[in-house]
Amino acid sequence: MDGTYSQNDLSHIVSADKAHVWHHLVQHKGFETKDPNIMIEGKGMRVWNQAGKEHLDAVSGAVWTVNVGYGRERIARAVYDQLMRMNYFAGAAGSVPGALFAEQLIDKMPGLTRVYYCNSGSEANEKAFKMVRQIAHKRYGGKKTKILYRDRDYHGTTIGCLSAGGQDERNAQYGPFAPDFVRVPHCLEYRKHEQDGAPEENYGEWAADQIEAVILREGPDTVGALCLEPVTAGGGVIAPPEGYWQKVQAICRKYDVLLHIDEVVCGVGRTGTWFGYQHYGIEPDFVTMAKGVASGYAAIACCVTSERVFDLFKDDASDPLNYFRDISTFGGCTAGPAAAIENMAIIEEEDLLGNTTAMGTYMVDQLNALTDRHRVIGDVRGKGLFLGAELVADRVTKEVVPEAQVQAVVADCMAQGVIIGATNRSVPGRNNTLCFAPPLIATKDDIDQIVSAVDGALGRVFG
Ligand code: PMP
Repeated sequence: MDGTYSQNDLSHIVSADKAHVWHHLVQHKGFETKDPNIMIEGKGMRVWNQAGKEHLDAVSGAVWTVNVGYGRERIARAVYDQLMRMNYFAGAAGSVPGALFAEQLIDKMPGLTRVYYCNSGSEANEKAFKMVRQIAHKRYGGKKTKILYRDRDYHGTTIGCLSAGGQDERNAQYGPFAPDFVRVPHCLEYRKHEQDGAPEENYGEWAADQIEAVILREGPDTVGALCLEPVTAGGGVIAPPEGYWQKVQAICRKYDVLLHIDEVVCGVGRTGTWFGYQHYGIEPDFVTMAKGVASGYAAIACCVTSERVFDLFKDDASDPLNYFRDISTFGGCTAGPAAAIENMAIIEEEDLLGNTTAMGTYMVDQLNALTDRHRVIGDVRGKGLFLGAELVADRVTKEVVPEAQVQAVVADCMAQGVIIGATNRSVPGRNNTLCFAPPLIATKDDIDQIVSAVDGALGRVFG
């Protein structure tokens, strides 16, 4: 650490935090006996907390965000220059970085043409939901308002997004939810034995057929959109099986259902392509993104659509209701697109997509090499540098390990100075999966350090 803060400053910061900050996703009782981690500095793959302890960050800011790594001076300078010139004007007007980033982004997304700016993943998804609802009213006489979402997928924290939330334990105490969100089954091949009728072969196509069955049950004239994560993130790092996406696309076309891909996690390089859906050759109508767009250097999210969708909102200008009556105050901040332009340039210039693919393959091999020694690893899966290792008490029955043990593995790694994550699903039949999403600049040495920490932690927790 560079000594910016004295020991007095740091103890004041810790006590101010404990007295006044309500942390995300945390049961605060724990802070009666220990201090929160306050991250003071970051550089490359590493972060330092208030005690000066160095950590290798294998989850890019805990929630898979800092794709280009910490301490990128060129992003900070671009944001500074932009803020001094023009920091904000509401999005009914345009901005220089907003126009330029939209052009660069669209260049990476053949078939899509329009970028709607806002500032969180939840908000981007809400924009898409609202567009779908408005299209239902405009074009289908108020029918086709239903939005399908998948078991285990997560789309955000607002009541609208929780209504489309496939993780029951995150929804448990926040109902009632918005109507006309309908759940479809998941597609986790490793746990297909839990789904009635799942076949040995061609599971991907079968899983897509389950979506068609829901559309037919609900009535195709009532279903407006299907919203899916390309690789399910917090629901257990689930990369869909062969044949799934092609069939999903065909089903959407058959029933005139708009396809909304939630790239909040996978977007901008995480899986080794610019977007996760680009592995599968599909053509979505909406793509939402947030975390990796500016790697956390500024808040920015985008809801990207096709010209076909966009045109529906300008076809009859004489109708006063016929435009997207929506705003996002901070969608007019210029810091986001200014940071996003540099972020994308770094990924291109340093070939971070290539590195992600190569290091992802290396990391899968290294994790698989642990499976002989650690029978608790049931499945290693994911795409690019977004990987999971599901832990099971028994490889035959695939019984889940208790959440406390998964947390013990995460804590052990943390004590070794390596930050990993976990999807904690203590619900029977769910999955408890260790999560890895290091910055896309990771080297073999970094991955060796992560895997060796996991190796040690699994040995200590499970013997
Ligand atoms: N979609 C997915 C797939 C996510 O993982 C998340 C956040 N983890 C969101 C949406 C919501 O993003 P935000 O927290 O920025 O609202």
